[in-house]
Amino acid sequence: MHRVVAVIKNPSDEDFLVVRQAPPPLLPEEEYRNFLDSDLWDLPSAPLNLLDEDRRSETVIEGADSLSDVLDLRRFDVDAVLDQVFSEVHLKSTLNIRWSVWKYVKEPEFGPGPPDNTLFIHGVVTSKEQILEESCQWLAKESALALLREVQPSGTRVGPFVFMALFSDSNSGANCPLHYQEYPPGIRLVPMKSRTREPFHTTNLVVVVADDVIDQPNGSSFVAYGTTLLVDPGCSSQFHSDLTDLVATLPRKLVVFVTHHHYDHVDGLSVIQKCNPDAVLLVHENTSRRIGRGEWYLHRTLISGGEKIQIGNHQFEAIFAPGHTDGHLALLHASTNSLIVGDHCVGHGSAVLDFRAGGNMKDYFQTTYRFLELSPHVLIPMHGRMNLWPKRMLCGYLKHRRDRELSILKAIENGAETLYDIVSKSYIGLNTKLWLPASSNVRIHVDHLAYQGKLPKDFAMQKFQASCRLHFISRWLWKYLESRGIVKAIAVIGAGSLAIAVALINF
Ligand SMILES: [Zn+2]
Repeated sequence: MHRVVAVIKNPSDEDFLVVRQAPPPLLPEEEYRNFLDSDLWDLPSAPLNLLDEDRRSETVIEGADSLSDVLDLRRFDVDAVLDQVFSEVHLKSTLNIRWSVWKYVKEPEFGPGPPDNTLFIHGVVTSKEQILEESCQWLAKESALALLREVQPSGTRVGPFVFMALFSDSNSGANCPLHYQEYPPGIRLVPMKSRTREPFHTTNLVVVVADDVIDQPNGSSFVAYGTTLLVDPGCSSQFHSDLTDLVATLPRKLVVFVTHHHYDHVDGLSVIQKCNPDAVLLVHENTSRRIGRGEWYLHRTLISGGEKIQIGNHQFEAIFAPGHTDGHLALLHASTNSLIVGDHCVGHGSAVLDFRAGGNMKDYFQTTYRFLELSPHVLIPMHGRMNLWPKRMLCGYLKHRRDRELSILKAIENGAETLYDIVSKSYIGLNTKLWLPASSNVRIHVDHLAYQGKLPKDFAMQKFQASCRLHFISRWLWKYLESRGIVKAIAVIGAGSLAIAVALINF
């Protein structure tokens, strides 16, 4: 996937054109109507699509030859991109703009799916007067940087293309040997291969390095201070050498923050401690209990939310955010009002709550409303891409959980009594491979329904709970093997194997 982004300037000054971005469609329900994201301004852009095999683009973009290793522009519909850009900024496409390549930025592998790479092109118009619509405006470089660095809750926002085009150097490897994406300024995301759940393959390591080193802040208002912050070092062991290389390049006064204990968030802790034994780990008590001494045996500071962390010129606040687990924390970047949300949200699809680690639906809803109150500028999940429409995303999560709870209640009202029956009736169409995580959510929803007094009077909670272990595992395993055609294979192996398989379904 490629996208073309246009940096359109005028000859008299350094101002460039930005367009108010269209938000995602509103949810139909009245209860979500009050949660609106603030205006987001960014450079005009359009997807770059392949031409038919026998066609070639004649449009000239100066410097396109320099891209030949990564992109042959003649094979793409460049005219359609330029038409779309002109219509977004309400300029006449007959204007004779000379376009040239500005930069090409490869996206790190956030997944799911291949990276979206971006080609920035540059053009100069003859006059500012040609801009008519209120959905676009000229923006000075200094104003853009000020808006990127300081974002008030519900204030005007400037998007990532402006930052990537004019201020970021993420492809140069400066201060970071790994491929990262930086947005907002100072927050770098490094997707690292981890033992995480499909459809993802990576966990986002958040890296913040102080621009200015300041002395230890006075007083006790900060629970920790340092020159570098790492959040959720969860890469799997094959990539520990990459993490070692990264830590070796970072300033030594290191603060490590983990959102929760799942191994795809803490697998790299021991490596960091080996490279930098002075590093301090910030962690919730309930998470700390689940992280072994082998993973981190030195300094741990227990936090519970509300604490301030100073990393040079960057300030953060820890936010207690239970729901996914009972020790789950989020982190708010003060100046840009960006929220690092751990596993409360993911870049694609919906989150799984961990029944065994105190996952709780009432907490999950409360945390989601807390996040909405914070009016974040951007949501940074640990799996997948960041989200630029946080309130729309959080409302989508609320709606999804309510819809799911309703479907679970319906399945129960229609006679489903066991965990297996409820999962199979309320997750119709879900790949059976994913029924295990789905079952964790179902258990948490059933508890939430009980808490709200919504379960039918004749629903036998004890029978349900008794069906949550071997009964569920055995029936799910049979279904899973059946869906993969393995049952047939077992059938021909022999009577001994069959006996085992039959025994499984009789639990
Ligand atoms: Zn998790």
